[in-house]
Amino acid sequence: MGHANNTGARGNGFEEHAVAATIAERLAPMLRKLGAQVDVIDFPTQSNTDDLNAAIKAANEGGYDFGISLHCDSSDNVQAHGAHVCFYPGSVKGSRLAMCIAEPLARLLPGRANTVQSRPGLAVLKRTRCPWVLCECGFITNPENAALMKDHPEAIAEAIAEGVKAYSKL
Ligand SMILES: [Zn+2]
Repeated sequence: MGHANNTGARGNGFEEHAVAATIAERLAPMLRKLGAQVDVIDFPTQSNTDDLNAAIKAANEGGYDFGISLHCDSSDNVQAHGAHVCFYPGSVKGSRLAMCIAEPLARLLPGRANTVQSRPGLAVLKRTRCPWVLCECGFITNPENAALMKDHPEAIAEAIAEGVKAYSKL
């Protein structure tokens, strides 16, 4: 999960952690259906920094094959919209997973010029030992994207699950 309660982006009447939690709640069973063992790593009552450190620790102690952080973007420009997926530069598996997820996710939430982005500065990508990606599931500040988060979080989860399925077949 991306943030603790009320520490992330806000817009259109809701906040980032709640959106991510709703998507994760739907995504976990979809991935289990694909045969994966899934843990939802979330420390909602901590500070943002503690949440991040605890998540990285759990990620590295869990022996996972890969990890997915769930976020949503925000902007002062309410027109800004669309999803993208970040990976750590040089991580071959991370970039593959990012590309696999970005394809269906950006089909559902189009608008970003670069739907896959290499990001050296994100701690969750840098400090986790297994391939890790960070999904920005659209802009919470854009009315259409926010409506999808609110009314169809399962569609966002489905897109991510579709990407994981494609990645696991590579
Ligand atoms: Zn975020």
